[in-house]
Amino acid sequence: MKIKSAVIIFFVSLFFGVLLFPGKEIATLPPKLKKVVRDSIITVRITAAGDLMCHSTQFNYAMVSKDSFNFKPVFDSIKSYFDSSDFVAGNLETVIADSDSAYSGYPVFNTPEDFLSGLKYAGFNHLILANNHILDRELKGLLRTIKKVKKFGFSFSGAVENLSKKDSIKIFNIKGIKIAFLSFTYFTNNPNRQARKYVEIISRAALRRRIALANKGGAEFVIVYFHFGKEYERFPNAVQKMFVREAVRDGADLILASHTHTVQPAEFIKRERGDSVFVIYSMGNFLSNQRWRYSDGGVVISVEVAKDFNKDSVFVKKYSYLPVWVFKGKINSKREYLVYPLSKRRLKNLPKFFTQEDSVSAIKSFFDSDSIIHAFGIKLLPAF
Ligand SMILES: [Zn+2]
Repeated sequence: MKIKSAVIIFFVSLFFGVLLFPGKEIATLPPKLKKVVRDSIITVRITAAGDLMCHSTQFNYAMVSKDSFNFKPVFDSIKSYFDSSDFVAGNLETVIADSDSAYSGYPVFNTPEDFLSGLKYAGFNHLILANNHILDRELKGLLRTIKKVKKFGFSFSGAVENLSKKDSIKIFNIKGIKIAFLSFTYFTNNPNRQARKYVEIISRAALRRRIALANKGGAEFVIVYFHFGKEYERFPNAVQKMFVREAVRDGADLILASHTHTVQPAEFIKRERGDSVFVIYSMGNFLSNQRWRYSDGGVVISVEVAKDFNKDSVFVKKYSYLPVWVFKGKINSKREYLVYPLSKRRLKNLPKFFTQEDSVSAIKSFFDSDSIIHAFGIKLLPAF
């Protein structure tokens, strides 16, 4: 055999994991090719924001022409952060009811549907409808809102379009992890009892029943959102604490909340099986025209949920938070709102279009949110 063909045979045989020696027996070697295995641990990033409000100045700023609005610039600074998440939820504290009747802000909201296209652009993919404003335009307004929310491709929780769906739990299979998102509100401003049946109102029984249904349906991680608390308070009251503890006892794995339009503290609550459940009593405002201290911003929470397929266990790898402050003013001589993410580093280099007053408010908001969220003694990682 010529040297050249011997070399070829040598390399070919290496490829197949065996060495062939002409005229001799075949000697096997351990396989050279690495066995391709599926990653045994998958991580899913879940992000949640507080109240998504649309006061009348907001849609006036966003107006392009009659019945055409562009809310996208509002989210330009936060978008890349949301885009790095697998699931982004926020509380839609308004209704997308009808363009025939006038758009309105507080106290009875009716928001143009372009607001939803702004939220979609921002990176939201789940909207919470369990809140006190969801019946602002009666049952018809809620049903139209659900229709629009679906049209823009959001999933939603906390209200149904059909009473027969009241007990059906949506479980999201995200990269192989089954996650349930359950939302509840303490009340609705509209007292109409028939309409309220379409909204998930908090009660101990409802909480227990729906968490049990989620578990029965195969959920491996149950997120509970509460719309509760007293507006503008910076600490949770007894009712909030009670429902949170109930939810932990019933099997919630993560508890998020808003409604107070202020940030409230976070804490870990130990449960029977030995681990702890993360709770934030209020994420505050994500977007609004509430310009005063404590309400002009909020926090965004991100949680990395992991599944170990070998051990068949689901657990939280990391919790982090991102304070945001809402800018309102002129950018390139156009009136804009802008949800601006904050960190210690970013405070040193605030945008040029911030006035002195804006910078003072943003810095105040950052340190307020940072101290309030940690007021119960835990230490959360900043997002950046
Ligand atoms: Zn509310």
